[in-house]
Amino acid sequence: MKLRNKINLYTAFLFALLLILMNITIYLSFNKLILDSELSTANKEIEKVTENIGKSLGAVPEGALLRSYVPINGMIRLVSPDNERISAVTSPTEQELSKQKAVFYNSELSKTIEYINREYIFSSMPIIMPDGTVANLQITKSLKTAANILSILRIVLFMVTLLALIPVLISSRVLSNLITKPVSSMINTMTDIRQSGRFKRLKLEGNSKDELFLMGETFNHMIDLLEVNFEKQEQFVSNASHELKTPLTIIESYASLLKRRGKEEPKLFTEAVEAIHSEAIRMKDMTEQLLMLAKNNEQWDIEKSQINLKMWIQHTIKGFADAYQRKIEMVEGTPSPIMIETDEKKLKQLIFIFLDNARKYSDDIIKIEIGTNYKDDVYIKIIDRGIGIPPEELSKVFDRFYRVDKARTRRLGGTGLGLSIAKDIADAINAEIQLSSEAGRGTTATISLKKS
Ligand code: ADP
Repeated sequence: MKLRNKINLYTAFLFALLLILMNITIYLSFNKLILDSELSTANKEIEKVTENIGKSLGAVPEGALLRSYVPINGMIRLVSPDNERISAVTSPTEQELSKQKAVFYNSELSKTIEYINREYIFSSMPIIMPDGTVANLQITKSLKTAANILSILRIVLFMVTLLALIPVLISSRVLSNLITKPVSSMINTMTDIRQSGRFKRLKLEGNSKDELFLMGETFNHMIDLLEVNFEKQEQFVSNASHELKTPLTIIESYASLLKRRGKEEPKLFTEAVEAIHSEAIRMKDMTEQLLMLAKNNEQWDIEKSQINLKMWIQHTIKGFADAYQRKIEMVEGTPSPIMIETDEKKLKQLIFIFLDNARKYSDDIIKIEIGTNYKDDVYIKIIDRGIGIPPEELSKVFDRFYRVDKARTRRLGGTGLGLSIAKDIADAINAEIQLSSEAGRGTTATISLKKS
């Protein structure tokens, strides 16, 4: 069943149920009120009539006496203890009542009774007869007027229920339209996206910032995000396939050369194996970096811990310097120790990317300076005196696969992925990175971190 019909049906059903329950309660309460009032009136009436008749019994003939007290729609009678009617007078409208069997009661009583499918109030009161015996004075009164009122009430309540359902149906229709319109337009847009394969957005109308508007806005943001990611992925795949094509072509051509002339020419053999080996290593590195980028794009697991930065960096750079046989000098920008809370592993990865670039693109000593700036932020500067980056290239080096001097960086084993990974890591650990460089003079990479 459609959402719109469901809303209509449930709202109408619930409201109708509520109205019916309310009207039944009103009807039953009113019914009880009327009967109670009729019973109490009958009680008072019979007491009065018994008293009056008691006084005149013996003096006035019973028939005449009863006739003067007969109700408009009912009967009055005297009943002896042996249930033999002594005398009864019936109003012209209720002649059938005279055929009703007489029953003697020992005490006074008032109740409703049914006789020939009609409702009556029946009250009975003991009365002392002139001969000293006890009889019952009984009055039976029709409840026709009360029944009429109740039937009018029933019709009124029924009509009210029906009439109240009309605005309910209209308002539930308006409500369901209000809810289902944005949902349907979202479904249409999604179907459109699926069929055309193009990203589309919802048209957001009105300026009420309700949940449905927010839902539409969220949907559009999600589509924006998907589009950006999709474009990034496309770009990434085309870049990756383009970059992997070169080493694969080199490997293929050297392999064919080996196949043809490798056995006869040992010099060629060594050169080909070297080239294949180095290209294979490059491809391995690149694949690893690509995998890392793809994986980290999904989610970074940040594990923060408190570190004494200066001591930690000294220890970190020692391993690097030993592995590459390079001199790395640590410069203290601030004399006091620097304590910082960060993800140790990620920061190490970040520093290694810049150190590795400094190593690749310079031959001189590498400096690493640590200190705090005027905002009390911690900075780590990796300074080299190498080939540097021309100013017009500086903004591009963070792009994936971007290399300033392709031939040269290829030789040095560069993939063009290091700085884009650095940017992702820096975002993940809330660090800022900045490159300043001068062609031919060297490069300074600055990592800025908040203290906690
Ligand atoms: P790669 O693996 O090629 O080094 P990066 O993303 O780390 O990739 O760097 C992108 C490009 O920026 C490098 O190819 C290089 O041309 C340039 N570059 C990065 N760091 C330095 C540096 N310290 N000195 C000179 N050039 C650099």
